[in-house]
Amino acid sequence: MAVRIAYAVARQIADHALSAAPNEACGVLAGTRERISRAIPLDNASDAPDRQFRFDPNAQLQALKAIDAAELRWIGVYHSHPQSPPIPSPEDIEAAMDSSLLQLIVSLETAKPKLKLWRVDRSSVTPIALMFDTDSDVGIDDRLSQFKRVAIVIAAIASVLLMLAVALALLPPAPEITPAP
Ligand SMILES: [Zn+2]
Repeated sequence: MAVRIAYAVARQIADHALSAAPNEACGVLAGTRERISRAIPLDNASDAPDRQFRFDPNAQLQALKAIDAAELRWIGVYHSHPQSPPIPSPEDIEAAMDSSLLQLIVSLETAKPKLKLWRVDRSSVTPIALMFDTDSDVGIDDRLSQFKRVAIVIAAIASVLLMLAVALALLPPAPEITPAP
């Protein structure tokens, strides 16, 4: 199963990681089972923020309330690895509480931030394919919006044809041609 992420959200997560370095950035992810559509950054409340991350419970609660209010689902957690690859560390695996949550890790080890998605529990670490949505408007209902676009074009053509018909009907009748005496 692949999960998609809105490009703007991926960009936001990478920017958060860059601005928090050398500390780890962290936050929560919201959307649907197939698509990450929002990331909410949270402060890293860890005592050693350059090596691990921890959510402040109150800030986490506020973020989850905002997700609920937006009628989205809490689907995962993200954090950054300023110096190491985007692979769950032993601490990440130890801290993974709920394997139904996705774990997104952004690594700043290379010049270009690298994002990787995982499903982690204490007994297994599974990579999940992550696909970027370049058009952030392409959502769950892309087929519906495509249908709407077609409907708008058909309606436009129909109204032009109707105007033409009305214009033709309103033309004065052609003069009768009488043969010259
Ligand atoms: Zn980590």
